[in-house]
Amino acid sequence: MKTLMAKGIKKIRQINGFTQPCPAFDGKMCRVYALRPRHCRDFVCRLLEGVQSGAITMKAALGKVRLASRQAETVRELMRKLGQTDETSALSCRLGEIMERPYDPMDSVQYNRERRRLMFQSQKLMQILDRYFL
Ligand code: SF4
Repeated sequence: MKTLMAKGIKKIRQINGFTQPCPAFDGKMCRVYALRPRHCRDFVCRLLEGVQSGAITMKAALGKVRLASRQAETVRELMRKLGQTDETSALSCRLGEIMERPYDPMDSVQYNRERRRLMFQSQKLMQILDRYFL
């Protein structure tokens, strides 16, 4: 899982052309949106490209956005259950923090079950982002 996330983070880096997570991102939105760099202004996700070219309808595209939002919320909920409640950090950082913690056989069965669920749901989110947005 960690390797998959690392690949995902690397991919975002390559697309935006600079280090991620961006320090201007507050966990929900860009704090410098009006003054964001040119590569941010020029970035068009695959979904928007599809709408602009007519390959996908706006209605269908909004459905994909809702799908990704719901999946991100599922991931956030699991992170909260696992004690990672810093809502201002990027999901990738929060996930890294949780996964870096070494496996401890003394952790409760419930904790380990939630951690496995987080791995699975995060992978699912990456697949959605990779498939429709990147
Ligand atoms: S849009 Fe804002 S938060 Fe996003 S990468 Fe650009 S500067 Fe950072």
